[in-house]
This record gives sequence, C-alpha cells and structure tokens, in this order.
Amino acid sequence: MAVIVQKFGGTSVADLDRIRAVADRVEAAIAAGDKVAVVLSAMAGVTNRLIDWVNEAGADGDGCEYDSVVSTGEQVTVGLLACVLQGRGLKARSWLGWQLPIHTDGLHGRARITGVETAALRRGLDDGEVQVVAGFQGIAEDGRIATLGRGGSDITAVALAAAIDAERCDIFTDVDGIYTSDPRIVSKARKLDKITYEEMLEMASLGARILHIRSVELAMKHDVRLQVLSSFADGPGTLVVNEDDMLEQELVSGITYSRDEAKVTLTRVPDRPGVAAAIFGPLCDADINVDMIVQNVSEDGKATDLTFTVTKGDLAAAMGVLEAARDTLGYAALVGDPNVVKISVIGVGMRNHAGVAQKMFQVMAEKGINIQVISTSEIKISVLVAEDYTELAVRSLHSAYNLDVE
Ligand code: ADP
Ligand code: ASP
Ligand code: MG
Repeated sequence: MAVIVQKFGGTSVADLDRIRAVADRVEAAIAAGDKVAVVLSAMAGVTNRLIDWVNEAGADGDGCEYDSVVSTGEQVTVGLLACVLQGRGLKARSWLGWQLPIHTDGLHGRARITGVETAALRRGLDDGEVQVVAGFQGIAEDGRIATLGRGGSDITAVALAAAIDAERCDIFTDVDGIYTSDPRIVSKARKLDKITYEEMLEMASLGARILHIRSVELAMKHDVRLQVLSSFADGPGTLVVNEDDMLEQELVSGITYSRDEAKVTLTRVPDRPGVAAAIFGPLCDADINVDMIVQNVSEDGKATDLTFTVTKGDLAAAMGVLEAARDTLGYAALVGDPNVVKISVIGVGMRNHAGVAQKMFQVMAEKGINIQVISTSEIKISVLVAEDYTELAVRSLHSAYNLDVE
C-alpha cells in the first residue's frame, strides 16, 4: 500500500460541489489501494478577503493576529472535506497546523516549516483513516499560529510528503499541468509532460505561480515525486523530475513574467569605491531584497546612474531608506517606477548553446519594446520592460522560441 499526498488549491475547493469532487478523487485513490493524506487551501478568494479585513482592522504589531485570522480559510475546507468523506462511510479527520503540529520559525506571515510531527498522521493512515491537513499554516516557537506566505499550501503538501515518505505528491489545480507559459495569457502555451526541478525552480522564482518556489526546493532536496494535474479533468499532468530523467532536453522550456517588480534609479551617484555598499547596505538592513542591478559607465569618471529592482511591495520602503541617506550618498535624483515587468526565458538546454539571449533581444527590438535592465544566469535570461508590453513580449517570445502548440 502506497502513501500518497493529494493537494487541492483554492479553485478546487471553491464550494461544496468542488469539495465533493475532491472527495471523489480521494475515494478513487483509496479504491486503488492507496493511503491518502490530503492538503487543502482555503476556498478561492477567501484568503484575499481575510487579508483585506485584517488590513482594515488596523494595527497588528507582530503579525500574529494576521496569521490567526488569515489561516482560518483552511480550517473551513479541511473540516468540510472530512464531513463529506465521513458521509460516504469513509474514515477521515481534519488537522490544523498546530494540532499535528507542523513547526515553523517565528517569521509570521512568511514562516518556514522547521519540522513536521508525523506520529499521529501515520497512526491514522495505518488505520485506514484519510488525513485531511490544513495547508499554509503551522505553529511558531512562540506558540502562535504562523502562515507560510501566499500560495503556501504547496509547501505544506511537499513538506508532508517528505516527512511521511509518500510515494508521490499530486498537486491538483485549475490547469492540467505545467505549461511553457501561463495559459491565461498565452493561448498557444503547450503542456509539458516533464520539467526538471531546476527549471521549475527558475520558473517559480521568475513569476510562474503554478507552484510555490519553496515547495519545489523542498521536493528537490527530499526527492519527492511531484506531479501537477487538474482537479477538473482527468488525464496525466506534468511530472517534475531530475535532469537525468529527461530523455530529450529542449533549448527553452518556458517563458515567464513577473509583474511584482519595481525599478529604482539613482542619478549622478559619485563614482567611487564603496558607493554600491553604501547604497545596498541600508536596503539590506531594512530587509529589502534587491534583484536586477545595472550601473552605467560614468562618462566623466565622476558620477554614474544606478538602477535596480525590488518587489512592488518594497518600493515605498526602499525609496524611504534612500531618501533618508540622500546626504551621505550624494545622488542628484531618486526615481521609483512600479510600472515594469520582468520577462524571462528559461531552459537548461541554453547552458550549451549560444544565441538564446541574442534572439530575445532581437524579438524585443522587432516589437519596439525597450529593454531597461538585463540579468542572466546559466539557465535563464531576464529583461525588465514597461508593464504595458507584458502580453506582447511573452507571446512574441513564445512564438520565436518555437514553443507554440501546433
Ligand atoms: P491553486 O489555487 O490551485 O494553487 P494557482 O492559481 O496558485 O492555483 O496556480 C494555478 C495557476 O497558475 C493557473 O491558473 C495559471 O494561470 C498559472 N500559471 C502561471 N504560469 C503557469 C505555467 N507555466 N503553467 C501552468 N499554469 C501557470
Ligand atoms: N490560501 C492561501 C493563499 O491563498 C494558501 C494557498 O492557497 O496556497 O495564499
Ligand atoms: Mg497555488
């Protein structure tokens, strides 16, 4: 008997009918002889509403009350699924993060799982009882509920699969697999049968929200067999695998976009040793992550322009930090721009091929899209462009790299 983990996202548990459809899948797995642990998200839209309420309610000094409110969406869905399963004569029970418990660190709102207690879960599974676990939550060292960050149920599912040594972790969602690009904006996107952990990591970190990046990291580290498939339709999904398991390696496997970017430019910064440290040090102290960076060559050897990106949510804080350091940094102007998008081309195949970047730049030129910042790694190239060009840039690149479905 194999133990499997099945995770269902918000649209897959959006109402009681969808929860009954989840129960159908659980029943089918049990009929096939599997022992099943299920991880659920909150009903679609519920977490957003809870967050709005917390924001409207006012101060929440340490983030504990945010977590206590925002984690409740999952409490409803796990309880309801356990009811439906019991109504069908199956043994089932729900678990909240603190009950197992799932331990986390103390970073409320974006906590990391530090351990999963599995004894009770295993006993239940051995007893033929479906274990229905609330995603996205755990208990911090301070004894308070902690949430894992948006989309965090994926992390719960993989952490659980690793902890109970599950044979596989199936992530059921509203698309039938991982595509070459977000099918919502690229109608010609093609479903991949397989993708490597490494490519999926890049895709997740560069904007494809199909899987939470930390769930992919965990799956890679603990060798969890991860599969993404539809809860709305039957059929095979996409398997996330090691590079060795890929028979044929495509040059480019995906195009992503991330609108969660903002650009900061400092003009006429004195060009002397230590100036980058003086700028990025205070940002680091303020816990602001800087991503792409470009520094122009200074024409007169005296002053240079420096541009970098942060997340949209960090823009105001970054501007505040740099504004405060204006006298020490000695720049002429500070400009923030939230209307940008990061477009990335990803593929492990590009390690051994020249010309992938050149094609990207050419496509942007042909479409009249100005590239503001560029960054590259072994298996990806990213460019920052004006947000209005998102669809045009992604679709044009998708065609140019021959990813369009026939
Ligand atoms: P869930 O609520 O089930 O966790 P999400 O909304 O988090 O679902 O993730 C599924 C969505 O991810 C899809 O509806 C799709 O629009 C989006 N998506 C982004 N990039 C991709 C991609 N490369 N392949 C498939 N889906 C993608
Ligand atoms: N309900 C949480 C969210 O909307 C977690 C999840 O769905 O994965 O972010
Ligand atoms: Mg998700």
